[in-house]
Amino acid sequence: MLIAQLIKNQTLVEADHAKRDELFSCPACQSIVTLRHGQIKIPYFAHLANANCQVFSENESQLHLKAKKELKAQAEAAGYTATLEKRLPDISQRADLVIENDLGQKMAIEYQQSPLSLQRLRERNAGYAKIALPVVWILGPNYAQAILKQRTVFKFSDARNRLFYADASIEKIHLLTDFRKMDHTKLAMARTKLSLKNCLDYLLASQPNPCKSSYFKKPVRQKQMMINELHRLQQDAMCKRLPVEIVQLTYEQHKNLVCAPTIIHLGSQAGLSVTNWQWRLSLILRLIEVGEGHLTTIDRLLKQFSSETYFYPRMVKNAFAKNAFLKLLSEFEDANIISLKKAYVLVKHLPKWFSSYEQKLNSLR
Ligand SMILES: [Zn+2]
Repeated sequence: MLIAQLIKNQTLVEADHAKRDELFSCPACQSIVTLRHGQIKIPYFAHLANANCQVFSENESQLHLKAKKELKAQAEAAGYTATLEKRLPDISQRADLVIENDLGQKMAIEYQQSPLSLQRLRERNAGYAKIALPVVWILGPNYAQAILKQRTVFKFSDARNRLFYADASIEKIHLLTDFRKMDHTKLAMARTKLSLKNCLDYLLASQPNPCKSSYFKKPVRQKQMMINELHRLQQDAMCKRLPVEIVQLTYEQHKNLVCAPTIIHLGSQAGLSVTNWQWRLSLILRLIEVGEGHLTTIDRLLKQFSSETYFYPRMVKNAFAKNAFLKLLSEFEDANIISLKKAYVLVKHLPKWFSSYEQKLNSLR
């Protein structure tokens, strides 16, 4: 922690300006903390080994401490008032930084460098929601893009499906949006680099969206890519590497999974914890159960296909998975498989299954 309380007069002091011969306590739990600093390390306060403080965790790295100071300095240079390690007693939390503009609009900044469980993340967000304080989570360089997994992206992205990430120097905030994922390819996204000032102005003062819009056109699906996907599916089927549930479901319909309609290979939905083909094929199998000429409700399908069975869990509740599934339904409507009538889905023409792998392969050539 960077801020402690001077015991003699209860004022808050930043470690940088603290004197060694004075006594300090933790602003949250009131227990004694000691000032630490070395030749290279930036000064900070630490609880005694036996302290049991719920608000300040002790495992902050030097990188984290440094980043907080840097964010504060940049926010102040950008004209914001910035408070380090702001205590929020109503919710027993503290924010890495709370910034405020001259209109009195506030926002919390959480700089996340170490792992944090989904449950803790949701608790912290619920706390901020309770006191109506907007929060932005900025991931640190530990979450470098090379290891940025879909699970992490969808865990930390906000209600508008944006992920904020800072490099070690915090020179730029990377704003990641428009996530796309085709099976067997890397997660694709649009990346906008912003100074912290531009980033905060955008978030707080509702400045125009700085993201490169229409960065992504509809992905062009090369024939060869579909052929590759089919090869892959065939190999996985032969080596019994396919998920058991989908194999079982297909078997129950007396179908050969590899011969499934080609529309299952056209997905580019990100945020799925299963492959695109599995999600799409599951829907087709569900429509087979409903049967041509029969109806089911959109709600019933939504409940199943936008659930955490298919999508990564998120720190925010929003309509991401729901919208993704509605998009898939409208794609199926365009393909004349279904027709959407208010709250209902009418199964029109079930897509054609191939009689063999070779036949399907030939249809793609
Ligand atoms: Zn404490």
